[in-house]
Amino acid sequence: MTIIPKMLIFVFAGTFFLNSDGCNSNKSGSENVKKIEIRGIYGSPNQFWNKNISLTQVNVNAIFLSWKAINEKMIERARSEGVKIFAEFPVLNGKGYVEKHPEAWAIDRYGNKVQPASWFMGVCPTEPGFRQFRMTELRELLRRFDLDGIWLDYLHWHAQFEEPEPILPETCFCENCIRTFKSSTGIDVPELSTSEQAEWILTRYDTIWREWRCSVIAGWVRDTRMILKHNSPDALLGIFHCPWNDNDFNGARYRVLGLDYGVLKEITDVFSPMVYHGRMGRDAEWVKENIEWFCMNLDIKTNSFPGVWPIVQASDEPHAISPEEFEKVLRYGAGAGATGVMMFTSNAVAEDPLKTGKMKKVYSEWITDEP
Ligand SMILES: [Zn+2]
Repeated sequence: MTIIPKMLIFVFAGTFFLNSDGCNSNKSGSENVKKIEIRGIYGSPNQFWNKNISLTQVNVNAIFLSWKAINEKMIERARSEGVKIFAEFPVLNGKGYVEKHPEAWAIDRYGNKVQPASWFMGVCPTEPGFRQFRMTELRELLRRFDLDGIWLDYLHWHAQFEEPEPILPETCFCENCIRTFKSSTGIDVPELSTSEQAEWILTRYDTIWREWRCSVIAGWVRDTRMILKHNSPDALLGIFHCPWNDNDFNGARYRVLGLDYGVLKEITDVFSPMVYHGRMGRDAEWVKENIEWFCMNLDIKTNSFPGVWPIVQASDEPHAISPEEFEKVLRYGAGAGATGVMMFTSNAVAEDPLKTGKMKKVYSEWITDEP
């Protein structure tokens, strides 16, 4: 595995982030002043615009939205309001693909095709046809639009983490995965049935198996990063990701989802932990604790690489989130070393004048004259 040298990453990210070392030489003490650079929304801006509310009026300076919802007209208006545009790009969401390409269907430890994990359907991350398909989509997206960055979403092995009771199957034991595992690690998995191979690996090489799975996910980040930076050197590569700490669900973020922060922090410009407290059955204070833990664990320094711009919950599911609660999580999301925040979703804010007011107020406090 090639780790991108840190200095090179500073060059990549240099247009957006202050180097903390450089900052520290400032004797005025401004190194301690935290600047929130991203006052974001996740989702379409249309509901604000349909109410004749410009994004400037509500102090928003960045939109994150599904790449399929982006069009030229939207970009033109967003640019005229001085707003940055980041495209959410669904990396390992296999819905609509695996049905037509069964060779990319993830396989569980019993040798069966996985079932959808509530509303989510993953895909086998090592299947070459799918990889080619997704990377072609990415190149096409970058060819069509001038974007400020790409945010990878569904960046994990098949599972469901956005609910109080997560679904965490052991995958993927398809032929592609077994073959790639063998060639990457040199471990000679014997010719057995799929379920026997799974048992053999999990019994003898559990640690190496999980490390390899994390390297596969990191490989997707590296490859998408290479394509993005080749096309737009100044554009940022962010990831939306499961926010669990190392202990949650017995370490399932690393063990099952395949997210190794230690590796990802070298190749990711911005982390966006999905701290959906309501959907995950937590209280608002959990957002504060989680972001503090995350920044401490990754040794995140304010205004340096990598950045942290969490996404908090505004939508009323499965229960109502009051405007006051929304304000709390918005502030907590921008806590510790975070320098940006956004919410799920823009519509949940736009359709509620009280939530719109809270966002406008909180964001107004973070506007600075600095470029
Ligand atoms: Zn597989």
